Amino acid sequence: MPEGDTIFRTARAMGRALIGKPVTVFRSTYPMLTRFDDDTPLAGQTVDQVESRGKWLLIHFSSGGTLATHMLMSGSWHIYRHGERWQQPRQNMRIVLENAEYVTVGFRVPVAKMLKHHELERALRIPSAVIDVLSDNFDAAEVSTRLLKCRDEEIGDVLLHQEVIAGVGNVFKSEICFVTATSPFCKVPALGAEKIATLIATSRRLVKANVLEDSGDAIVTYGGRKRRTTHESDPGASLWVYGRAGEPCRKCGELIRRRIQGPDARVTFWCQQCQPMPDGSEIDG
Ligand SMILES: [Zn+2]
Repeated sequence: MPEGDTIFRTARAMGRALIGKPVTVFRSTYPMLTRFDDDTPLAGQTVDQVESRGKWLLIHFSSGGTLATHMLMSGSWHIYRHGERWQQPRQNMRIVLENAEYVTVGFRVPVAKMLKHHELERALRIPSAVIDVLSDNFDAAEVSTRLLKCRDEEIGDVLLHQEVIAGVGNVFKSEICFVTATSPFCKVPALGAEKIATLIATSRRLVKANVLEDSGDAIVTYGGRKRRTTHESDPGASLWVYGRAGEPCRKCGELIRRRIQGPDARVTFWCQQCQPMPDGSEIDG
């Protein structure tokens, strides 16, 4: 699944291609979208805004309609110049939105809906901006309140709850726990207020650092490596723990462990030495 920072970048690039320009063509393989377009034609309207909200990408049109797409595992938006060759087969096309300059194509986008702006948050359970790590309206106190309600859950699972804190994906989850010296298997009540505040601030800082203009496509949390030439073959080269099972911890040399965690069986990486359980218990890797 794309992480929140990936959707944020897509929204930024799509915004540059679409905002303020009249739509010339709209096409979709989804009947619900074409029906909406029959009633309220999108051609001729202007795109007012493109934004990411958690893992949703929202395209707001001047008529007050919003196209909401969720990529899940398979979907992606591409931006092409007219006449440019698509990088995916035509049968993967689900949505096309064109203006005079660009053709934007949603490939294998599994979830797509047209909604009125006021219907959005309720209809799609789109995370409110106050809990979105990439939003200017982020409210750490609100996130803290929501997090503390997850009493019986392990922090590694809670960081993935989009209704608690939106935009942290599975890679960031392990990295945030490492950077804050937190065991991902520690239950919320054992964390303490100070640790929770640090976890929230770190979540924001790490995800935001990865949407800077020059930050490239890979997630980077570990900057100790000067040249990232082996990058393609080694996705863990710019990370503290994720994808590094069996390799030495960058801080203490202990071997990084890997374990499947939580009801959704997501993979978690951690260092037992740097991220001990508060009660000193050991978790098997
Ligand atoms: Zn360590």
